[in-house]
Amino acid sequence: QAVERHRREPSQLLQILIETQDGIGHLPAASLTRIADLLELPRARVEGVAGFYSFLHTEPVGRYRVLFSDNIIDRMLGSRGLMESLCRRLEVAPGEVSAGGEASVDTTSCTGMGDQGPAILVNGLAVTRLDEARIERIASLVRAGTPVAEWPAEYFRIDDNIRRRGALLGEDFVPGAALQAAMARGRQGWLEEMRISGLRGRGGAGFTTAVKWMACRDAPGADKVVVCNADEGEPGTFKDRVLLASQAERIFEGMTLAAWATGARQGLLYLRGEYRYLLKHLRAVLALRRAAGLLGARILGEGGFDFDIDIHLGAGAYVCGEETALLESLEGKRGTPRIRPPFPVTHGYLGRPTVVNNVETLAKTTLIALQGGAAFAATGTPQSTGTKLLSISGDCAYPGVYEYPFGVTIEHVLEDCGAHDPQVVQVGGASGVTIAGHEFHRRIAFEDVPTAGAFMVFDGRRDPFEMARNFVHFFAHESCGFCTPCRVGTALLKGYMDKLASGKGAKMDLADIEWLDRLLKNASHCGLGSSAPNPVIDTLIKFRPAYERRLVSLDFKPAFDLDAALETARRMTGRDDPAAHLDWREEV
Ligand code: SF4
Repeated sequence: QAVERHRREPSQLLQILIETQDGIGHLPAASLTRIADLLELPRARVEGVAGFYSFLHTEPVGRYRVLFSDNIIDRMLGSRGLMESLCRRLEVAPGEVSAGGEASVDTTSCTGMGDQGPAILVNGLAVTRLDEARIERIASLVRAGTPVAEWPAEYFRIDDNIRRRGALLGEDFVPGAALQAAMARGRQGWLEEMRISGLRGRGGAGFTTAVKWMACRDAPGADKVVVCNADEGEPGTFKDRVLLASQAERIFEGMTLAAWATGARQGLLYLRGEYRYLLKHLRAVLALRRAAGLLGARILGEGGFDFDIDIHLGAGAYVCGEETALLESLEGKRGTPRIRPPFPVTHGYLGRPTVVNNVETLAKTTLIALQGGAAFAATGTPQSTGTKLLSISGDCAYPGVYEYPFGVTIEHVLEDCGAHDPQVVQVGGASGVTIAGHEFHRRIAFEDVPTAGAFMVFDGRRDPFEMARNFVHFFAHESCGFCTPCRVGTALLKGYMDKLASGKGAKMDLADIEWLDRLLKNASHCGLGSSAPNPVIDTLIKFRPAYERRLVSLDFKPAFDLDAALETARRMTGRDDPAAHLDWREEV
């Protein structure tokens, strides 16, 4: 059925797999074979996609699949203890399925609920504000076999927690008004306003949006595409979640503004799997816009243009936030980043010229259409115009979403969010920048401290080493495995951090970590690998005592017991003397 619903389109493979799993609970081998036959794809391709995404399962995972968000902030809020408690109550080991096959409990990367954690996903739906009482009740519901749809609605309540409003969050928006204003200027006039605004991508890289749009407009090919990247997976980020929930009209209108500028007729919004609870709401907004003549054929009537938007769901792969991996995923493939050039603006979705913009970037374009580029550029700094949304979580009294003009200092933000005794701020998530106390005067801006939006606060009780170790585990888990430096390098980095944590570290390990940093930065295929060592190197420089107090020796110290490891080989060779494993030269 899922295959027919998607018109036997191979590019819909991921959506077909998600819907098939929704119906059966997992993806049995027979289903994969059937899907491959119907789509006329090699079975290996279908199995390869099913195996890539962490929310897809080829083996049964139980009627209830519970995934604890394993972000460092959730851990600080007690997620580990709560997970142990649920496992005990359900008599299941982490990562396994209970004896009766009814439930499984495991961890997943950040679920984007850092402002209201600890959080879990139950059969893909987020449950927030967990505590021991809620865990006890959830265990009872699972044991009683109560369908998730009948669980208390309060469990699934997700607040926006908007704490500070600026130009984007503070102003009412009339659907269609920005589009009318842009179309009145003509295509070239609208692009000129975008250029004057200086708007830079809010997804992290900071590329100038107008330049991207112009390159797509000028690329050969009539079938251009606008893609909204709603796959914010950076640990500690959740502001796009709030925009999708409260500003969907602006986001879709921003996509339509991009289509007007580039000549695109097709739009795709890629929604991260963790936010699938927003799917119904987003589809309802799309329907409203079609009914109002703001999407579809001849937008805004005679003389208008054709453009419509579909929503695609992700399935738990952080790397798909990278724009070329996201395009692969949209095409129904594994989310492996592409080699660039060519860039998406000339060869994007299905080889067509494609603009990929972040949720916040697209929402901001409505401000430019309504106010003009110069008014937009009057806020912020010369190189970072406009405002920036921050997702603030961790050790502060008021976690949530804050909108500031670019250029705001970190100490100002800390004061606003009620942070007491802040020691470290991790800006930009796991791949971002670790800011120590003496740097709190620094500013949030592309030219100083850039960020896609995460702002995690750690007070004096926290250990910067453990923060970095959590992030390294995250990268090792999320590496797509395509290139060896990242696949092996992130695993090695994780091994070194675990060795240090277990008290077996030596000074030589710190030197090896620095060597790994250079390797990952220089040889990784995409930003995930090259930024994976950032939190370790930053904390190693700024909080070195947190590492040095874990060292037991200044010399090399193996992470395992060499004698025990060689015992079998010794028995087989009859070498049981204590020096058997030493270098032969020492014996001479
Ligand atoms: Fe995949 Fe890592 Fe290589 Fe990026 S750097 S392509 S995530 S293995």
